[in-house]
Amino acid sequence: MVTKIDPVELTKALIRCPSVTPEEGGALVLLEELLTAGGFECTRVDRGGVSNLFARWGTRGANKSFGFNGHTDVVPVGDVSAWSVDPFGAVEKDGYIWGRGATDMKSGVAAFAAAAVDFVRDTPPDGAVILTITGDEEGDAIDGTTALLDWMAAQGERMSCCLVGEPTSPDTMGEMMKIGRRGSMTAWFTVTGEQGHSAYPHRALNPLPAMARLIDRLASHELDKGTEHFDASTLAVVTIDTGNAATNVIPAACSAAVNIRFNDSHSGAGLTAWLEGEATKIKEEFGTGVEMRVKVSGESFITPPGALSTLIASAVNAELGVTPEMSTTGGTSDARFVKDHCDVVEFGLVGKTMHQVDERVPVKQIVQLKAVYTRILQEYFA
Ligand SMILES: [Zn+2]
Repeated sequence: MVTKIDPVELTKALIRCPSVTPEEGGALVLLEELLTAGGFECTRVDRGGVSNLFARWGTRGANKSFGFNGHTDVVPVGDVSAWSVDPFGAVEKDGYIWGRGATDMKSGVAAFAAAAVDFVRDTPPDGAVILTITGDEEGDAIDGTTALLDWMAAQGERMSCCLVGEPTSPDTMGEMMKIGRRGSMTAWFTVTGEQGHSAYPHRALNPLPAMARLIDRLASHELDKGTEHFDASTLAVVTIDTGNAATNVIPAACSAAVNIRFNDSHSGAGLTAWLEGEATKIKEEFGTGVEMRVKVSGESFITPPGALSTLIASAVNAELGVTPEMSTTGGTSDARFVKDHCDVVEFGLVGKTMHQVDERVPVKQIVQLKAVYTRILQEYFA
C-alpha cells in the first residue's frame, strides 16, 4: 500500500528549518528530497546568495503544464521572548501548528508539494506538473522567482498556467482568491530653500509651506474611482521630516515620502509623470528647489476571470462548499513576476497571523488546502 504525503507533518518539518531570508535553512533540501523521490526532476536555481528550487514531473515543453509557485523563506521572528512557543519548534496544540512561516507560507508549500507528489503517482497525467519554490520572497525578491523564471526561459521550461499558494482569505477558508494585484510605488521629495532667522522670514526661503502645499495637493487628489476589478487607487503620505528642533530657525530643507497603491488605470511611468508635474508647479509657485526620486516596486496586473479562475473556484466550491470572491486587494506577491510568464491566480489559506508573534495555522486548513490543490490538478488534467 502506498502512503500518502501528510501535509501537516510536512508543514512541521518545514517550520523546523530556520529559513529566515536569505537563509535556506534546510527547507529546500527537504523538499528536493521529497520531490525527487516522487519522480520529479529537480534543479536548484541559486543566484545572488539565494536558493531556489525548480521541480518538474513529466516532459519539458509539455502541451499542458500546471505550475505552482511559493516560498520557503520567512520573516524574522522578532522578540523571541514575546512568543509563547519556540518559533521554529512547530508545536501542535489547540488544533494549530505554531511557528514562523506556519501561514506564510510553509503550509501552502507543503500542501501543494504533497498534492503534486500524490497526484502524479496515483493518476499520472498527460502533461507536466511544475513547482517553482523560492527562498527570496520576503526579501528583495531580486534573485527569487525572477531567477527561476529567467532560468526557465533559458532552458525552454514552460508553465501553461500557475497557481501561487500564498494565503488569500481574510477570515474564512475558501472565501477569496486573488486574480490580480495593485501596483506599488514610493516617491521621495526634498524641497530646498534658504536657512534663516524665524524673526526675519523675508530674508530666508522657507521650504515648509512649499512642502505643505505639495503634500496637500497630492493627498487630496483623486487618482480614480476604481475599475471593473479594482478598488480606487490610494496615496498615503508616509513621512514628512525636517529634523529641525530650533523654533528660531527656518530650516534649509524638508523631505517627505508618499506610497501609492494603484489599479490597472495607471502605470508607474504615468504616475511618475504626474508627480513630476506637481513638483514643477510647486517650484514655480514658491521658488524653492524640489527634487524627486521614485521607486516602482510592481505594476498592477490582472488575469481576467477565465478558465484558470473558474477551475480554482469550482475546486474550492467542491471541497469547501464556498465560492471564492475574485479579488485584487492586498499587497504585492511573486504573482507580479509570474504574470509575465503565464496566467496566474493566487489561492491559499487564511492569512490572519502572517508576520506576527505566535504565527499559527489550523491543522484542518492544511488538510483542506491539500484537498483543494489535488482537485485542481485532477480537474485540470481531466
Ligand atoms: Zn508569503
